Amino acid sequence: MSTNRRYEHFINGEFVPPSSGEYFESTNPATLDVLYQAARGNDADVDRAVSAAAAAFENPAWRNLSQTKRGHLLRRLGDLIGEHAEELARMETEDNGKLLREMRGQLATMPEYYYYYAGLADKIQGDTIPASNPAILNYTLREPLGVVGAITPWNSPLTLTTSKLAPALATGNTIVIKPSEYTSATVLRLAALADEAGFPAGVINVVTGFGAEAGAALVADTRLAKVSFTGSTATGARIASSTASRFIGSTLELGGKSPNIVFEDANVANASMGVVAGIFAAAGQTCIAGSRVFAHKSVYDELLERVANRARSIVIGDPLLNETELGPLAFQDQRDKVASYVDLGVSEGATVLTGGGRPNIPLGGYFFEPTVLTDVDNSMRVVREEIFGPVAAIMPFETEEEVLRLANDTTYGLAAGIWTNNLSRAHRMASRLEAGTVWVNTYRAMSPSSPREGFKTSGVGVEHGIESIREYTRLKSVWINT
Ligand code: NAD
Repeated sequence: MSTNRRYEHFINGEFVPPSSGEYFESTNPATLDVLYQAARGNDADVDRAVSAAAAAFENPAWRNLSQTKRGHLLRRLGDLIGEHAEELARMETEDNGKLLREMRGQLATMPEYYYYYAGLADKIQGDTIPASNPAILNYTLREPLGVVGAITPWNSPLTLTTSKLAPALATGNTIVIKPSEYTSATVLRLAALADEAGFPAGVINVVTGFGAEAGAALVADTRLAKVSFTGSTATGARIASSTASRFIGSTLELGGKSPNIVFEDANVANASMGVVAGIFAAAGQTCIAGSRVFAHKSVYDELLERVANRARSIVIGDPLLNETELGPLAFQDQRDKVASYVDLGVSEGATVLTGGGRPNIPLGGYFFEPTVLTDVDNSMRVVREEIFGPVAAIMPFETEEEVLRLANDTTYGLAAGIWTNNLSRAHRMASRLEAGTVWVNTYRAMSPSSPREGFKTSGVGVEHGIESIREYTRLKSVWINT
């Protein structure tokens, strides 16, 4: 099916066509219908957007707006997102195939992120510092950085954009967002809602397009004061070398290969549900996916049976339907990549306990079965590399020391799960696991007030919480001889 629906860039408070006149298609991964065409951004479009953001940063309507009023605007944006929750949820489901009920859940809490930073906006302040000379008054000012370039992936466009947008605006910056080429629609809608909320023109800009074109042009723009990126570790490394050579900051939220560890003293029924949610939510397309499952050998068989049985019963199909539990992967290359990882695992010696193939779904989209691999170990690529799909590798272990070593034997360090009823063990493991987030007897819990940092190659810098205010501000020390 073709469509006439077109999305343009959002620059300086209005939708504008791409300077090249070129558009690219975006497809619904469940039905393979073409959903819309989006503007194919290039250097000239990025230049225009950064110019608008730079001018808005100097515009008294934004620069001199009181911190309290900045908070009011953010609160209003949160309200508007709440009012448009169903529309936004459906748009994103159609764009990336995520379950509508999962999206409704995300939208139900999304306004809280804006309210949280709205509340912080007028609490961003410096200090008075006791100087060694009493004749000197020394104080600090916490200032906005300037124009922030934000680049986001396709797996959760609205949520991951929110993690950057809300603190960047609360601190008085302006922003140019480059969403993933697979999911342009909801971020553009978000920008329009921000405009409706009353943010001055140019404070929020969106340039759509491909990573190698619009994305690279944005990162290369020397007027940026910071790049905030969420995506793969490979792209993050490229961005980090570019920003480092210009001595500007970057916040990088990257890939993961998170361990989910089930001890012999855990409630295995609960743990198996946590393992299933950890890896199969969003068809495994989450950075925090618990893709390496370690089960103590005394509960290994039981856990395996429970997880495999649940995986076999998962309802795959139309992500818009309430009864569906697993939607499609977001695009064809993504499904092919997941399928080739399963083949690779088998060639490395893994056994496919369940799944591993393309289910026969009449909609015809990029569906892939929830898959459980056994006979795997840390030497295999399928255990070491991020698959970003519904594929769990389940391995037995015997001792706490052993599983700690296995869990930490990865280049990634995003998240980890522990299932145990032993309180001392929970604290011991939490302190020794090399992961920015550790969940005990739960998985995926998240809140705007809780900071999130990727260790090792999973990232640099913090998102969410009060800590993220530092990511979007700089500190000035003022000395006055009284
Ligand atoms: P990706 O790195 O391919 O793309 C991410 C974004 O970067 C897209 O907008 C893309 O267009 C852009 N991009 C690509 N090349 C670029 C370049 N050379 N210069 C500038 N921009 C460029 O990642 P993806 O496939 O969209 O997302 C999946 C990855 O994101 C996974 O690795 C996942 O773990 C990670 N992720 C991390 C988090 C987190 O919070 N740590 C959250 C979600 C996803």
